[in-house]
Amino acid sequence: MAGKKRAAAEPKPGNTLADKLVRLGIAREQDLVLHLPLRYEDHTHLCPLAALKPGQPWQVEATVANTDIQYRPRRQLVCLLEDGDAQLVLRFFHFYPSHQKALAVGKRVRAFGDVREGHFGLEMVHPSFHVVAPGTPLPDRLTPVYPTTAGLAQDALRKLVHRALLRDPAYLAETLPPWTREPRRLWGFAQSVHYLHEPPTDASQSALDARTHPAWSRLKFDELLAQQLSLKMHRRARARRRAPRLVGDGTLTKALYERLPFKLTRAQQRVIAEIRRDLARAEPMQRLLQGDVGSGKTVVAALAALQAIESGRQVAFMAPTEILAEQHYRKLAVWLEGLPVKMAWLSGSLPAKTKRQAKAVIESGEAHFAIGTHALFQDEVALPKLGLAIVDEQHRFGVAQRLALRQRGIGDAHQLMMSATPIPRTLAMSFYADLDVSVIDEMPPGRTPVATRLVSQRRRSEVVERARKLCAEGGQVYWVCPLIEESEKLELQTAVALHAELTATLEEISVGLLHGRMKPDDKAVVMNSFVRGEIGVLVATTVIEVGVDVPNASLMVIEHAERFGLAQLHQLRGRVGRGAAQSTCVLLFEEPMSEAAKARLKVVYEHNDGFEIARQDLRIRGPGEFLGARQSGVPLLRFADPERDVALIEAARGAADELLRREPGAAGAHLERWLGGKQEFIKV
Ligand code: ADP
Ligand code: MG
Repeated sequence: MAGKKRAAAEPKPGNTLADKLVRLGIAREQDLVLHLPLRYEDHTHLCPLAALKPGQPWQVEATVANTDIQYRPRRQLVCLLEDGDAQLVLRFFHFYPSHQKALAVGKRVRAFGDVREGHFGLEMVHPSFHVVAPGTPLPDRLTPVYPTTAGLAQDALRKLVHRALLRDPAYLAETLPPWTREPRRLWGFAQSVHYLHEPPTDASQSALDARTHPAWSRLKFDELLAQQLSLKMHRRARARRRAPRLVGDGTLTKALYERLPFKLTRAQQRVIAEIRRDLARAEPMQRLLQGDVGSGKTVVAALAALQAIESGRQVAFMAPTEILAEQHYRKLAVWLEGLPVKMAWLSGSLPAKTKRQAKAVIESGEAHFAIGTHALFQDEVALPKLGLAIVDEQHRFGVAQRLALRQRGIGDAHQLMMSATPIPRTLAMSFYADLDVSVIDEMPPGRTPVATRLVSQRRRSEVVERARKLCAEGGQVYWVCPLIEESEKLELQTAVALHAELTATLEEISVGLLHGRMKPDDKAVVMNSFVRGEIGVLVATTVIEVGVDVPNASLMVIEHAERFGLAQLHQLRGRVGRGAAQSTCVLLFEEPMSEAAKARLKVVYEHNDGFEIARQDLRIRGPGEFLGARQSGVPLLRFADPERDVALIEAARGAADELLRREPGAAGAHLERWLGGKQEFIKV
């Protein structure tokens, strides 16, 4: 206890001015130049108290007539201003003694805030204010409001930015040569930055707020240019590396073709051809394979793997969850049975001894095909003859894991990343510019699209009956538990309760339960009996979201669908509709629903195409979250909007090529300004 107390008395680490600035992404003084305002306030006029009207922000200047702390209905600081015969109340619910002191009777105060009608006349709640000497001149510029963090006041930040703008001409130096700037009619850098931090009073506030002003365009262009430059440089560096040429002799791939119970779609054939060509080259492949859920990416991965194995190399195949990795392992084991391919299975949860054995066969080079979770890389397994690394559902790996994958282990091997979350073209262009992209844009034949039903909780019993009937006819059902992001424990309890409920109601049917907290062995047992059809209804948390493939399951019920994200719902729905039977996805929702939830469910209801859903998702949520990187510390676009600024992205792409070719020094200076020498920019 005593230790705790002492710790509390010490200065809190992480709260110096520098720490606060770092939290805003400002590591160097020159970064302040690029810390641009969110919006502006007009402090250039004063409004007499008698002329104030509610419902709008105003600036006033008047004398304090009274200040005291009141306790009803809750503790608050109330200050009464007077000028002539009119009055205005300033009200503060959060305040320090210093506020009270500053607002002493007789002081002249300049306040800015929204005016509203209070019980005792007009008032401002939490205005910004200064004590001023009478006759203090008004600013002749709009006042910027910056993104800030707790404990860093707007005024302090304004001063820091202002100082940085004056400090060093190098901070404002132009990085774009005229032949880049002029044809694109871009404003100068210094001009734009000054304008955005200190706009003249005649500036169009609406153009500034909408970020369509030419000064904004220049800054967005610069940001996008930095992104394109870093991606292109990354790509060039890759082109200089040497990977083994994996030409293959066709023996294994041919054998697999002959065994497949289906014919590849044209889209599958096309992407396989693209991958085959890459593998045969000495430049390491970095290809993203996109294809909607169920489009058949696994077989493409298997064919790529066999080409590498034919060439005498090892292949690592990683999946984000144990269930999925194991399913791949089992499926591949069937496909490759009897072929001279030695497989190895590695996951974090294997018993130590089994794991050691698996590692040994991988590290000796005896295993050709290592399949597993990211344990494959996290446990520092060496793959001495690694030729190809395949990452399934790569978007499900955390950003940190993805970077780690890039940085270690893989070395100069070829890389194939697969994703069922389609990335809209504009996003792909700006975020994945250093990758080649292959798209499977065609579903295997014979699939009937999944019918989606929105059903209120009030009619849940009808859904239960439907499940009963389907199981009686030999069908199978997924029943997904509500997502409870705040508490894994609560989520688990809900899953157990749901399982108990359905077991009781559907007494003649075998109901299974699958959740993230189960031991991998137990999970596998449940999953296997579902695959074999011994379980009729599988109650599951979102652990089944990715990749699981049971064609006989044709009904998917999602409880509290309103709590899920769009991509998740689409992924879950993709678990059904894999066989010949007409499949249905029931989205159970609880009323009342928020507008945002309604909008989400409407999108899933109306669209079956993953690309369209991703586009809508981007529209509803914005790109940062889309990439799941908001809290990753990976730099994200701050100013440009990949949906709205497509033209600027195109322009920046062109300029990046020009600049690297004609003036690489300027490209370096530009990157230094925007990335501060950081190596990592927005990457996969
Ligand atoms: P995903 O792209 O979501 O990873 P999978 O690779 O799991 O999809 O494939 C989904 C299902 O479709 C699997 O059962 C797979 O065997 C089957 N499949 C793949 N390609 C074809 C095809 N060309 N024709 C018929 N079925 C296919
Ligand atoms: Mg898959």
